[in-house]
Amino acid sequence: MQTLSSYVLGRWQTGSGAPTLLYNPATEEPLAQCGTGGVDMAAVLRHAREQGGPALRALGFRRRGELLLGLSQALHAKREELIELSVANGGNTRGDAKFDIDGATGTLAYYAGLAKALPEGNVLPDGAGIQLGRTARYWGQHVHVPRPGVAVHINAFNFPAWGMLEKMACALLAGMPVVEKPGTPSALVAWRIAEVLVESKLLPEGSYQFLCGSAGDLLDHMGPQDALAFTGSSATGARLRGHPALVRHNTRVNIEADSLNAAVLAADVESGSETYGAFLANVALDIQQKAGQKCTATRRVLVPKARVDEVVAELSAALGRLVVGDPADAKTNVGPLASAEALRDVRAGIERLQHYARAACGGVEPIGSRGYFVRPTLLVAVDANAKVFHEHEVFGPCASILPYDGAPEAAAALCNRGGGGLVSSVYSNDPRWLGAVVEGVAPWLGRVWTMSDKLAGHATAPGLVLPHTNHGGPGRAGGGEELGGLRGLSLYLNRCAIQGFQGFVAGTFGAKVSEGATAPA
Ligand code: NAP
Repeated sequence: MQTLSSYVLGRWQTGSGAPTLLYNPATEEPLAQCGTGGVDMAAVLRHAREQGGPALRALGFRRRGELLLGLSQALHAKREELIELSVANGGNTRGDAKFDIDGATGTLAYYAGLAKALPEGNVLPDGAGIQLGRTARYWGQHVHVPRPGVAVHINAFNFPAWGMLEKMACALLAGMPVVEKPGTPSALVAWRIAEVLVESKLLPEGSYQFLCGSAGDLLDHMGPQDALAFTGSSATGARLRGHPALVRHNTRVNIEADSLNAAVLAADVESGSETYGAFLANVALDIQQKAGQKCTATRRVLVPKARVDEVVAELSAALGRLVVGDPADAKTNVGPLASAEALRDVRAGIERLQHYARAACGGVEPIGSRGYFVRPTLLVAVDANAKVFHEHEVFGPCASILPYDGAPEAAAALCNRGGGGLVSSVYSNDPRWLGAVVEGVAPWLGRVWTMSDKLAGHATAPGLVLPHTNHGGPGRAGGGEELGGLRGLSLYLNRCAIQGFQGFVAGTFGAKVSEGATAPA
């Protein structure tokens, strides 16, 4: 069996002690083992701060952008191999695997492109200068500068490539070295990516380290100039946020957690219209893609009461046509869940929701004798207000239809019962109705995706996270923000107001028009 090592302190280190096993979730065959026992976590962080950080900052923004482009190209050259590993260890169909791998290389390339408009050095002006006194002699300018610490990235199992590289793109461009820790059950892809990155020799020593297995006591050694970006369940996120070392040092923490994303159909959307087609296709896609293990997947489908039977019939028919099985088989549409634990949690979650709903299709009956499979499941809530639909995230191929009266206020109120989310999608051809819902839900979401006939055929699906716009969300979603163009760098930069004589402040730190310099937020 393959043993996956960690890349720390400039070398590959195999963990000591009992290893954790990684499986093929379609066959339950063990594929690899890993562990971080014996890794000196304090030394890992010191190495990043003392070697990686200074080397990265010596490059300045623009050359760091060139570095990202090189990394994107090096990984793209290994695309087929990475897709195969993702199918084997992640339970991903080829399409699901491409979603993760291409999303990762695309995000690196996107940030490489943004870097071309940044200054050469490490100082990024934030907005225009400000007159502070009676005369313009006394002047202020906000700037962003890289934090001289280390960025620790702890990722969820569902996007081993994209989750790691979207965080890394922002941190490295900002000038912070990274320590990457993927979710263990699907770490094979992340580990191979780490190998490719190290073999590329593009990264200055110490700027990239990789932990394959448990984080151990890593967080105990974090300090005031470090940053933690976490993606995973809200329970783990809450534990990490309260970690004594992070609290003591006011270490920057960004949490990306659960989300009960909604899709809202307005009563004005006619059957057979392009908007209606997009609604059905996107809801079905979110149940199918990555077997529903997508943080942005729709979990709650708000449908006007009079349209419920029609929507249930259409979605059940579409989901019933999907083939569930081994993702290595080209005919398969829905692969297995990532682990035995995920299977147990999803089955328990569906059973819990079923106490308050009728099943339109799918359910928890086992499929075959091996593998962590669940049928695409559509539930119809008996009472849309039942707490369970707004509080329990079933992280699998399952969504619930919540009948409502069609009013924008009712739609917004139901959406907001989720307590804060990453994204919700709203379908209507009535701009006033659409505007009312968007305004109602915007305080509770990181992103609102709207669709009307005028946009049909021109937009990506709501579940796709684009690096141009914010990813994150308030409340239950973790209260974090990632990506959003240059805003994604803010976790890794310190904003400082510089005050003094205008000639010095504006001349040295103000935006140079020729550089098109711009601030993260
Ligand atoms: P998880 O169990 O919370 O684990 C997430 C990460 O935290 C893993 O790398 C895990 O390591 C690590 N971890 C667990 N306990 C830790 C501790 N005490 N100290 C340091 N690290 C610790 O979540 P998951 O099962 O991997 O992912 C599924 C969840 O993630 C879902 O709820 C989903 O909604 C959410 N998610 C959110 C987003 C988003 O962007 N908001 C994206 C994807 C997924 P091990 O794997 O080694 O245990």
